[in-house]
Amino acid sequence: MPDVSDAPAPELDDDVLVAVRDLSTRFFTEEGQINAVEDVSFEVRDNEVVGIVGESGSGKSVTALSLIDLVDSPGEITGGEVWYRDAELAAEFAGSDAVVGDHVDLRRVPATVRRSLRGSSFSMIFQDPMSSLNPSVTVGEQIAEAVEVQRRANGNPRRTRSRTQGYGLGRLLIDAVLPSRSYTDEESHARAIELLEQVGIPDPAERADEYPHQFSGGMLQRAMIAQALAGEPDVLIADEPTTALDVTIQAQILDILRELQESGETSVVMITHDLGVIARMCDRVGVMYAGEIVERGRLADVFDDPIHPYTQGLLGSVPDLEDPAARLQPIEGNVPSLLDREMPEGCYFADRCPKAMADCRQPVPEYDGTASEEHAVQCVLADREYDPAVGLNDTDGVIDDTDSVTDDTDGATDDGVVSGE
Ligand code: SF4
Repeated sequence: MPDVSDAPAPELDDDVLVAVRDLSTRFFTEEGQINAVEDVSFEVRDNEVVGIVGESGSGKSVTALSLIDLVDSPGEITGGEVWYRDAELAAEFAGSDAVVGDHVDLRRVPATVRRSLRGSSFSMIFQDPMSSLNPSVTVGEQIAEAVEVQRRANGNPRRTRSRTQGYGLGRLLIDAVLPSRSYTDEESHARAIELLEQVGIPDPAERADEYPHQFSGGMLQRAMIAQALAGEPDVLIADEPTTALDVTIQAQILDILRELQESGETSVVMITHDLGVIARMCDRVGVMYAGEIVERGRLADVFDDPIHPYTQGLLGSVPDLEDPAARLQPIEGNVPSLLDREMPEGCYFADRCPKAMADCRQPVPEYDGTASEEHAVQCVLADREYDPAVGLNDTDGVIDDTDSVTDDTDGATDDGVVSGE
């Protein structure tokens, strides 16, 4: 499998900060090949929040890790492109097929370059702050270290791109000669306190001297955000940043992320299974299922006019505040195994889909949606109406695996997930 795509260079608008194209990540385990992320495409534009939503195991977090090349063995990014807009980087690789205008395909540049972008271009807030912070080091020191790492990277004369100044060649040489010097200095500590203040930690100077176990869950999550902001990233990836928090704290954390985005400092990629978070935060959304983005577009397009039955099922399983008596409609069944040898032909949702038809057992292309040109969906229903005469479902929601036409001639899907078109 090629590591680099040979697809023609994409046309990218100037406001596209990141364009992911056909990104695939696989895990090569003893049980076999796991297709965790398959041909995923989406864009992140300037100052917007992009959501990736789906059930557990749908590939959301691996997509985020793949974006910043943090997939560990036995995982491997096996194909696709990650176009990132950076004029200086584009100038560095000018003339190569890694560059289109100001955009650079990060999959085609050396891994050292991709690594150098972590922190300053891409930063990540991980799911569990308690296990992500070192319990034996004060919170302030850990954030100061992140600031210092960034300053040293920017002060490295071999690195031409820098924004945060203050760590020059002289300091680099002193540190090389005297490695026992304290890793962080007063300047980094002062910046750490500023960052803690920015994310709403009260008494940040005092709190900086405390250890993670002295912080509440919400405060730890704020500290993680402060650490992620140390390098002033263009893209902040938030992987389920509010999962373990109560709703009040959750709202505060989301407000912080929204303020960061609105201040023009960063774009945000929000990974979550929570449709409420997506509705509240995002400008654009991708719905993931079994390693694929099955529907994507502007929030209003996808939420107001969902085409894919999985998206419809997710939305149908959320309580309706205007009609609290209405019954929820859960999506029957489970996410399929992502083991390559067990993955079905055609649409991976077919076994759970109340509108599955015979054609769904064939590979399903991505169609432009109907709501706007940015609305795309991987489902035959983008192209035609559901035809119960060739439906694979029976009225009990059980799939007929023989691909034969069922006797469900009335097309009723009342027991299924979705109420209709
Ligand atoms: S209608 Fe077919 S292609 Fe669309 S989600 Fe259902 S099974 Fe998949």
